[in-house]
Amino acid sequence: MPKDFLAGAKDEYDVIVIGSGLAGLTTANILGSAGYQVLLIEQHYKLGGMATWFKRPHGHVFDVSLHGFPFGMKKSCRRYWNQEIADRIIPLLGVRFDNPQFSLTTPYDRENFTELLTRHFGVEHQTVTQFFDAARNMNFYDEQQMTTGEFFEKFFPGRQDIIRLLMEPITYANGSTLEDPAITYGIVFSNFMSKGVYTFQGGTDMLIEMMHDELKRNNVDVRINCSANKINTRRGAVQSVQVNDRTIRCRSVVSNANLLTTIFKIVGEEVFDKDYIDEARNVRLNNSSTQVYMALGENDSIDPATGDLLFSSTADRFETDLLLSRDITSRTFSFYYPSTRPHANPRHLIVSSTNANWDDWVHLDDEGYKASKEELIDTTLTALEKYVPNARERIIFSEASTPRTFAHYTQHQNGASFGTKFEGLAVSRGLPEQIKGLYHAGSVGIIMSGWLGAINYGVIVSNDVDAQLM
Ligand SMILES: Cc1cc2nc3c(=O)[nH]c(=O)nc-3n(C[C@H](O)[C@H](O)[C@H](O)COP(=O)(O)OP(=O)(O)OC[C@H]3O[C@@H](n4cnc5c(N)ncnc54)[C@H](O)[C@@H]3O)c2cc1C
Repeated sequence: MPKDFLAGAKDEYDVIVIGSGLAGLTTANILGSAGYQVLLIEQHYKLGGMATWFKRPHGHVFDVSLHGFPFGMKKSCRRYWNQEIADRIIPLLGVRFDNPQFSLTTPYDRENFTELLTRHFGVEHQTVTQFFDAARNMNFYDEQQMTTGEFFEKFFPGRQDIIRLLMEPITYANGSTLEDPAITYGIVFSNFMSKGVYTFQGGTDMLIEMMHDELKRNNVDVRINCSANKINTRRGAVQSVQVNDRTIRCRSVVSNANLLTTIFKIVGEEVFDKDYIDEARNVRLNNSSTQVYMALGENDSIDPATGDLLFSSTADRFETDLLLSRDITSRTFSFYYPSTRPHANPRHLIVSSTNANWDDWVHLDDEGYKASKEELIDTTLTALEKYVPNARERIIFSEASTPRTFAHYTQHQNGASFGTKFEGLAVSRGLPEQIKGLYHAGSVGIIMSGWLGAINYGVIVSNDVDAQLM
């Protein structure tokens, strides 16, 4: 008989959270600690969503999305998780850029960027200050007409090299482009610039395990291998969720599944207003990614001077289309030293990430898909040789993931790495106005994506749910 992953689950909860990405986990934790009866269901066999990892023989553990996040994670984790989690958040000091326009290493904070922009790029100090202040002072209520490209042009006209320095990491961090509203850039960039780039010491597996422990302490009923197939509504309010083959009643539902999947598949468009559905149809998904995971032999090591995070490119200029192209010119290399997991086998690992289009991968047949993955690994090894000498001979394990991999494990349409584009935020926030007790918390709108954005969105939505349930 197949295992019943809902064995012992109750017939009714205050809240059902669908999906255990960082937003879903955080919402469940806050509502559980507030005393609500919370059921957290995850369709995959692991918690974490995109915040995930995988193990391979010889003691290799690869992190999928632990490349860097802003300092704000420390505060959010301390407030909404616990001090032990917050204490493991440590700075990444070696952020490097290497491209035909410049090569430099930076702690990636405002002080250093001010020096770089004035000394290295020759910009007036006053202009740099005005740029930082304008980015920092952006908020949700600003008019959103100006694009990020226009914002750069205002301060650094014609300076393609500066645009690359300022934009490349943010594009990797959340898929935003020069055509997106400037606010999406300003808020995320300022978050990073406040104190630089941070990581979680212990690895993603330890973070998710610590979060799971905290959920248990807060009496959240956590179930893996449990898929929400349908959210049932009645007279404009949520009523229950069909989980695997059971129907479980609830007063609130928070969906951490992709916004469009939530509306069109799990709920069904027939229960929404037509205008709302029209707006939802216009929400664009964000792009996806490819990654290559590589391990050095047990007794081999990466020179620490290689850095932690390297934005490398062979393209003459920064362009969104080039970043997404199958003909890869830009890669972000994350270098993992034994200090990433001090408690585990000492290993030196490398993960190469590139932004990617779903359409370039979805139509391949089995043979074409396999060949394309091999080509991706091969070209990545060639690119890596510049930074890790003789990488091709020294890498003892390599594996690739594609937009299809991300879609498979998280059910995100088109394998979207960062949820939806900016317009998704209004639609996500509008859900409870359409159906009482129905919320979405998960990557939308660039600002609310990435590890910090997802956690913070989980906080915002848990406050909304609390207000509804009180
Ligand atoms: C390759 C890559 C690298 C990244 N690097 C970074 C980085 O360095 N720094 C950073 O800050 N961010 C990074 N990100 C982004 C970051 O990982 C995500 O924005 C964040 O983790 C998303 O969290 P989320 O809460 O939106 O949900 P997700 O992680 O998208 O999780 C949604 C969850 O819902 C579950 N689910 C879906 N449908 C159902 C259903 N019907 N029933 C039950 N469960 C369901 C899924 O299985 C999944 O677990 C990266 C992302 C990718 C893909």
